[in-house]
Amino acid sequence: MHEATLAENILDIALDAAKQNHAAKIFKVGLTLGEMAGVEVEALNLSFDVLKKNTPADGAELVIKRVPISATCNKCGKNFRLERYNFFCPECDGILILQSGRELLVEFVDCE
Ligand SMILES: [Zn+2]
Repeated sequence: MHEATLAENILDIALDAAKQNHAAKIFKVGLTLGEMAGVEVEALNLSFDVLKKNTPADGAELVIKRVPISATCNKCGKNFRLERYNFFCPECDGILILQSGRELLVEFVDCE
């Protein structure tokens, strides 16, 4: 995942939302980010800080909610939080089906 491209997309979404709401200023942009989405939060923040200059989002901060990787066993139906990409059930020999962790969403845009 290229964080600069991602930051650009997020900024676009935020600016669109501000325009639709006739807002002059954006305060916060809320993101949901799965731990498996492969995004470096630090790099994302840095890119966003550079791109937001001289836009209504100048001064806006990214509020990032991380979603842990969770999976359900296809045999015993138990839920697990995935660690180290182990896709086999620790309790039986079932296969774990990914339920969450790949999310990459703009949840809200807080603007004036
Ligand atoms: Zn199982």
